[in-house]
Order: sequence, then C-alpha cells, then structure tokens
Amino acid sequence: MRKLKAKYDVIIFGSGPSAYTSALHCAKSKLKVLCLDNLSAKPDKSLLPGIFTHPNTLATLCFLEGVNCYSDLINNLNGIEADNLSCNLSQLIARKNQYIASLNQTYHKNFKELGIDFFNLNARLISSNTVEILSFSPPYKIQADNIILATESIPITIPCAPIDNKHIYDAASSFNIDEIPNRLGILGAGIVGLELASIWRRLGAETILLEAQETFLNIVDNQISREAYKCFTGQGMELRLGARVTSTKIINNKVHIEFQDSDGFHAIRVDKLIVASGRKPNTQHLAAPEANLLLDENHFIHVTEKCRTNLPNTYAIGDLNMLGPMLPHKGIAEAQFVTEQILGIQGSPVNYETIPNVIFTYPQIAWVGQTEQALKSKGHPIKVGISSINPKTHKYTPHSLNAFVKVIACAKSDKIKGIHIFANIASELIAEATLAMEFSATTEDIARTSHSHPSVAESIRNACQNMLEKAK
Ligand code: AMP
Repeated sequence: MRKLKAKYDVIIFGSGPSAYTSALHCAKSKLKVLCLDNLSAKPDKSLLPGIFTHPNTLATLCFLEGVNCYSDLINNLNGIEADNLSCNLSQLIARKNQYIASLNQTYHKNFKELGIDFFNLNARLISSNTVEILSFSPPYKIQADNIILATESIPITIPCAPIDNKHIYDAASSFNIDEIPNRLGILGAGIVGLELASIWRRLGAETILLEAQETFLNIVDNQISREAYKCFTGQGMELRLGARVTSTKIINNKVHIEFQDSDGFHAIRVDKLIVASGRKPNTQHLAAPEANLLLDENHFIHVTEKCRTNLPNTYAIGDLNMLGPMLPHKGIAEAQFVTEQILGIQGSPVNYETIPNVIFTYPQIAWVGQTEQALKSKGHPIKVGISSINPKTHKYTPHSLNAFVKVIACAKSDKIKGIHIFANIASELIAEATLAMEFSATTEDIARTSHSHPSVAESIRNACQNMLEKAK
C-alpha cells in the first residue's frame, strides 16, 4: 500500500485522459507525481474502479462496434445474407464493461511501474502549492511545486428530468439499459444525443429526440448538417427541433414528457428517457474560496494560452478550461504542453485551429478547421471543392447514403481552411485532413499527393482536384 508523501513535484487533480497523460509524461521525466480523484463521487459506479479512460467515449465506441456490425448484417450490406439475427444486449454491456476494466487495469499497472501515487480521495486546492485532503479528519495538507487541474466535465442536469437510472438516464449510465426500449426519448439532439440515437435506433428502438434549438447541429458545416438531417430521419429517428422539455413524470413504469415548441405544449410517453443536455466543467468543490482560483461566468477555469491559471505554477487542462472544444484529445495535447512547461522544455503550444471533431453517428461526421458559414460570415474569400464517396467502389458506404468530403480553402492563397467529412469512416479520414492543416497545406499539395486507389481516402484528394479544376 502506497503512502501519501508530504511533498510532491506535481499534484494532479483528476484521472481522465488529460490527467493520466500528464501523470505519465511527468513520471517518465522522473518527477514525483501524485494523482488524486474522488472516484466515489462519480455518478456511474459501474465504471469504477478507474476513470483513466473516458468512459462515455469508450462505451459509445464499444457499443457502436457491435451495433454497426449488427445493422450491416440486418441490412444485408456487402451481399451477406443472414437470417434470424438478434442482438444480445447483456453481452454488449458485458463486453463494454470488460473493455473499460481491462484498459483501466493497464493504466493502473503503468502508474505502478512509473511510481505514480494514485489515491481515491476527496481533495481541494487551498493555494498555488498546497492541497488539502478532506477525506481525512482533521484534513491533511500536502505541498507541491506544480499543480495540474484536470477533473474534466460532468453532465448538465435538468431539474425537470431527474436521473433515477431506472427510467431516466444520463449518457454514461444509459449504456447499462439492459433491454431495448420500444420507445426511447432523448433530451438533446447535440453530439451525444445523436450518437446515442444512432445506437438505439439501429437496435430497433423507436427513437424521439427533443431538441430546444430550432436549428439542427449548427456547429457543423451547414451542408453536412442538412445531409445528416435527411439521413438520420431517413433511418427513422424522430427529430423534434425547437422542443424544450419542461417536465417529466413516471407513471405506470413509463416516462411522461411534457415539452414546449412554437405550437404550445405537447406530451409524449416513452419507456426510457436519456438526458443528453450537454456537459459542464467539473470545477465545483475543486478549490477553496481562499485559493482565489479565477473562473469565468460559465465556471470554466480562466487560463492563458499556456493553460496557466491566475495562480503561480497551477495549470488547468482538458474540459476544465475555456480553450478549444471539450474533447479528450484536446486535453491530451494540453497535458503534453503543460508537462513541457513544468520541465522547462521549449514545447510548442496547442494549435486549437486544428483539433479534429468527430460525431460517432452512422455515418460519422468529422471536421477540422472552419465551416463555410463561419468563414463567409467573417467575409473571408473562399473556394469549395466537393467529392462524393462512391458507394459502388467503397465497401463502407451503403448505397442509400450520400457520403461526401468537402474542402474549403482561401480563394487567394489556396491554403486549406476547413475539411468536412460525412462518411462511415470519417473519424479515421480526418487524420489526413488534420495533418494537412497542421502543416498549412494548400489544396494543390493534397491534389498532387498520391492516394491509394480505390480507397475512401482518395475522396479528399478528389475534392481538392475538383476545386482546382473548377478554378481553371
Ligand atoms: P451537446 O452539448 O452537443 O451534447 O448538446 C446538448 C443539447 O441539449 C443542446 O443542443 C441543447 O439545446 C439541448 N437541451 C438542453 N436542455 C434542453 C431541454 N430542456 N429540452 C430540450 N433540449 C435541451
């Protein structure tokens, strides 16, 4: 059993992907590291003992793997015919739990081998170099030369839809629903709501999404969100926009939902409701008032572009700070940059312009850089190239799907400003787009780069080629 030391080189709050990455980087450079997480306060205890992995993302991916396979077979994709197919939900859940547990075990082992102290304790920051452990009575104080805050984010709760994990679930706990609901309600048609809908709809649940906003997926390039709307409703998802949930009641084992739209109040009844109303930074109880840690009005920790808080040698990374999107790989990039600062290495800052975004729906949506509407609204002169992904040559693309790649570039310099993909393996294809943008590529650079043929990846090259031909 490890013992808490009185002083560390680095104390890290949290055990998600950004905390884990910083702990590893620091320990490999021979720093004495303590990682603290109040795991018992996590709402979904089934995901314990460790949260080193991002349970939501991993559960989604694990479920999707099974669901994609199942739905491809049901739809006789690729000419395979199979009869009497059924999906064993309890096996999907068991596989997901096993996968997360085994990853966590690996991470625990890595911590042990590198001599990182990890404690499941309730702690708070009381000054730039002092942490107070509240789980001990009286509270115990530990010193550190550097502190990294990386407690990630938690779901936004909606008072009118309290989670009971029997009828009303949040995203993480919904992966433990052990029977496919006949009728499923999802509150919120943002990224998480759509990913969950994409899973449950294809498992056979009648799926109704209630979204307060009038417009559909407005963070995505408009051309892609229009196509996604057509595609998802075509798959049978019922998308109700401008529909704000105002109350829920459990009657006879069903969830009665009341929502308001421009026509007034409406009521529907579902078997289960998943609340996917967004996430907020997990900053509550993180610092004592006397620490004077500066937060913004949305409770994000205020940081400089170097992820430094207003307190000396105290950093905030991942979903906690107000820089970039709330995505695990953003926090992982920040973890590396912050560790370099602690070690006094001249590192390179995180390029927030080239963080890839992915929505794991079916098909997936992925993008890097800016949307056409954002660039136009700023008055940038742009040009656009599009290439469809031909279902006849690409096995990943069902015939019914209008999959495509869209490249946007500066009309003057030809430098790429954004790449947007609507395709089944968009999450993989986006890596090429990200690398191109990171190296300030032009569309001509990509158009002249050889891509294997036939492949889905060559659609990025074709989109650039089409743009150049259009300009001739
Ligand atoms: P995301 O942050 O991308 O997961 O999206 C969360 C979505 O939930 C947002 O699009 C919100 O508009 C939506 N939302 C939040 N509260 C409600 C509510 N009471 N009724 C319906 N939608 C909501």
